[in-house]
Amino acid sequence: MKLNFCSLSSGSSGNCYYIGNEFYGILIDAGISATSIRKFLKDIGISMQTIMGVMITHNHIDHIRGLEVLTRKNSLPAFTTRKIWESILTLQKKISLDCIREISLQQKFHLAGFDIEAFPVYHDAPETIGFHICAGDKKITIATDLGHICQTAALYIKEANLLVIESNYDEEMLVNGNYPYYLKSRIKSDHGHLGNYQTSVFLADIFNDNLSHICLAHLSKNNNTPEKALQTLQQTFSERGIILKSQQRISILNRNVPTEMIRLVE
Ligand SMILES: [Zn+2]
Ligand SMILES: [Zn+2]
Repeated sequence: MKLNFCSLSSGSSGNCYYIGNEFYGILIDAGISATSIRKFLKDIGISMQTIMGVMITHNHIDHIRGLEVLTRKNSLPAFTTRKIWESILTLQKKISLDCIREISLQQKFHLAGFDIEAFPVYHDAPETIGFHICAGDKKITIATDLGHICQTAALYIKEANLLVIESNYDEEMLVNGNYPYYLKSRIKSDHGHLGNYQTSVFLADIFNDNLSHICLAHLSKNNNTPEKALQTLQQTFSERGIILKSQQRISILNRNVPTEMIRLVE
């Protein structure tokens, strides 16, 4: 079975990822408008009719902006925990109750040919989750909004063949930038976001031959650049003597346009 991944949009302005096989697909988050999601899917040759559901990581606007319209117009079911649903429904009161599907943490469920499991991460929302998606022996882990990597999240991250992990800010740019002090502290806190260096050190610790694609995600517009995120990771790997094998890739996910489709299994 095929297993394809494409980031439609990634960053603090909006997040949405596509994962698909030859028959169906799912979305992770709906943080851009429903119109943009439909357009980007069309651009990458995916029909909206093949999308079987959208997984939601938490209630921040950059993850749910298009959720209400997308689920209503396409009768699309949306999957997240009860606590996250409660936090979404206080913000998006017009969401059709027909689309609501409740899932439990660390309990596998099956959808569109994938085994999907949600795991907890630490972030400043009422609850935030990452997703681990398996098709046959191939695994994708998505962990995009987290202040630090707890042991549970690390278990799912270490299993990934394709890992989408946050590399939100360059530590120096954040400290020297013009964000107010409280916002800088929030971003850097254990319940905020992962910085380039933090992510790079963690990746160097868990790097293994099965990890074929690292996708650095959720880059800040004001406190990071794709070059800095990549350089920090490359430098950390080189300091640790880590050399990528020929089939191993590092990508930086675009903020506003789809990235190239990554095909884990043809
Ligand atoms: Zn976010
Ligand atoms: Zn968030």
